[in-house]
Amino acid sequence: RSGFVSIVGRPNVGKSTLLNRILGEKLMITSDKPQTTRNRIKGIHNVPGGQIVFIDTPGIHRAKSRLNKFMVDEALSSVQGVDLILFLVDGAVDPEKESGMIKEVLSGVDAPVILVLNKIDLIPKGELLGRMSCYGDTYPFKEIIPVSAGTGDGVEQLVKLVHGLL
Ligand code: GDP
Ligand code: MG
Repeated sequence: RSGFVSIVGRPNVGKSTLLNRILGEKLMITSDKPQTTRNRIKGIHNVPGGQIVFIDTPGIHRAKSRLNKFMVDEALSSVQGVDLILFLVDGAVDPEKESGMIKEVLSGVDAPVILVLNKIDLIPKGELLGRMSCYGDTYPFKEIIPVSAGTGDGVEQLVKLVHGLL
């Protein structure tokens, strides 16, 4: 099973950290500073009988400078022409605040989208299900998966799901 998987989401939600975790190597540059990821970096995950090409993207946000505008366009275009999209959100952020952006970015997208609720190490356990169902009301995600790219929690299940959907 092979395919192209794009990882998209706002700056600082943990896209590069997740990709590092999946690939098991420190390939991507992560930082507290938004916009560390300046262009698409591909990582390849090999399993017996398959290969997944991951595309790390700069974060989606309202562009102010021309450079930022370029990066946002890159991120938006990376949801086109891929087999699967991992849409990352910060688990500590109120889902209601993200719904407009999610609908905008994913409008007209054909590929299945997995909502990855990251940084669950930062949110109280009791809030998890409510947040997941709120995202489920926003868009017909294929799956909603809670993970912590930081601790590795849930990442193995996510990788299995990705392989299963390709
Ligand atoms: P990107 O801009 O989406 O690529 O985000 P990065 O991967 O560069 O991560 C931004 C910041 O969030 C870094 O300081 C990471 O260490 C932190 N981070 C990423 N994932 C997690 C997580 O699961 N839990 C916590 N607590 N911090 C995380
Ligand atoms: Mg990054």
